[in-house]
This record gives sequence, C-alpha cells and structure tokens, in this order.
Amino acid sequence: MTNRIAVITGANGGLGTAMTKALAAQGRKVVGTHLPGEEAQANDWQANLREEGIDAAIYALDVTDFDGCKAFVAAVEQDLGPIDILVNNAGITNDAPLKRMQPEQWNQVINVNLTSMFNMCQQVFESMCERGFGRIVNISSLNGEKGQFGQCNYAATKAGIYGFTKSIAQEGARKGVTANSVSPGYIDTPMVRQVPEKVLNNIVAGIPVGHLGKPEDIARAVAYLTADEANFVTGTNMSVNGGQYM
Ligand code: NAD
Repeated sequence: MTNRIAVITGANGGLGTAMTKALAAQGRKVVGTHLPGEEAQANDWQANLREEGIDAAIYALDVTDFDGCKAFVAAVEQDLGPIDILVNNAGITNDAPLKRMQPEQWNQVINVNLTSMFNMCQQVFESMCERGFGRIVNISSLNGEKGQFGQCNYAATKAGIYGFTKSIAQEGARKGVTANSVSPGYIDTPMVRQVPEKVLNNIVAGIPVGHLGKPEDIARAVAYLTADEANFVTGTNMSVNGGQYM
C-alpha cells in the first residue's frame, strides 16, 4: 500500500526534510510538524517541496505538550485519515558539562527528546493496533549509544529511546505494529554545523569512512523501517554513523 499517512515531527529540520522526500517517494502522504512560531519557515518548506512535486501537509506542534499532541492527531485524522506511520524526529541539544548543567536545561531536553515519544506514540498506538498496521521510528543518536562529554542530558534522552522503543515494540508485535529506532552519527545538518570548526574537524577525523553523513543516509533507513515489507523488523536500532561506533 502506498497511500499511507506518515507523520514526521520536526519535519522542516535538516533530517526531517530528507525523510519527507524519502517517504513521499514511497507514495506516502507526509504530514510534517513544525514548532509554533516557525510558520514562515514552514510555508517556505512546503512551497519548496511543492516545486519538487511533493504535496506535504504541515501543522504547528510543540511535542512537549501532551494535550497539543492529542489535538494534533485528532486534527490529522479528521483532515486526512488515520496515521499509519509515525517518525518521532523532533529533537534538540542544550549542552553543558554536568557541573554546569542547569535543571532547566536538563528538563527541556528530556521533555523535547524523550517525553515527546510518549506524547506522540500514545495518541496513535491503539488506532494502529486496531487497524493491524503501524510503523513507528524514533530518532535517537550515536551519542545515546556511547555517551558524549557535555551531553549528559541529550545522551540520556537518546539512550532512553531504546528502552521505550523496545517496550512498545513488544506491545505492538502481535498487532502488526513495529517500533524501531535509528541512531544517526554526525550528519551534515544545521544542528551539526553549530559545532565549533576545530571540534568538528576532530569528530570527522574519528569517523572511519572519513566524512560526515548526509541527511539522505538517515532518510533511507527510515524509509526501510517504515516499509510495509519491513514487518519482521521490530524492537531494533539501526546505527547509521559511518562506523564511528560499532
Ligand atoms: P534540526 O534542528 O534541523 O531539526 C529539529 C526539528 O525539531 C526542527 O524542525 C525543530 O523545529 C523541531 N523541534 C524542536 N523542538 C521542538 C518541539 N518542542 N516541538 C516540536 N518540534 C520541535 O535537527 P536535525 O539535525 O534535523 O535532527 C533531527 C533529529 O535527529 C533530532 O532528534 C536529533 O537529535 C537527531 N540527530 C541528529 C544528528 C545530526 O547529525 N544532525 C545526529 C544524531 C541525531
């Protein structure tokens, strides 16, 4: 089936845009979300995609808002129909070494990167189970696998995604609902371009393939895991990191 509805949170970001294109190429109707206040950017995103022949919808949503997620899912179901594929992609960093990390920084990253998974999955899961089909992909990170200096908040959220994903994979397994995570390494996106040049050069030197990944590398992993045929792949993590962590 190609006419499935795929929701991608944070779709207008670096990786989300590549995922949107990849899922649209599979014939999915993509519904993206953008952060409230980024309306102008979201309109540009939609217009740029339209020029490429992709008709994606986009809604404002703060994924930390449980009731907002509920209202968003209800609106999509009413406007377009039930959600078959959910890609929890929205995420942020707010780094500091442990001794300087403020509780606000900790809580913000936990809420955006991890609580959002619960907020979104709970809204779509029962309907997927009832309809006997669902694909959930949660975007984690290399730094959730290995930890990272200055990112105890971020790494904790990304590691937490593995436990969350494996648990709901077990709950959905008999109902045709798969749940998996994808852990990108360092990908050439605005998020990574914020890293100071010297630090980034050192990072690239530590990637066995010798270069940053491309957003399309992650999008291909998401396309694979959300395919109808990927029904025997659940509760796993796909590391896409140029060999940086094996
Ligand atoms: P990005 O900053 O380009 O995109 C993130 C998106 O999330 C944006 O659209 C932003 O508006 C949205 N967002 C942020 N807070 C939100 C909130 N409260 N509610 C709703 N949306 C919100 O980042 P990206 O590089 O595209 O990263 C996408 C995902 O991939 C993130 O989860 C990130 O942690 C993960 N990741 C990225 C890399 C990389 O190299 N870029 C590496 C590992 C993991």
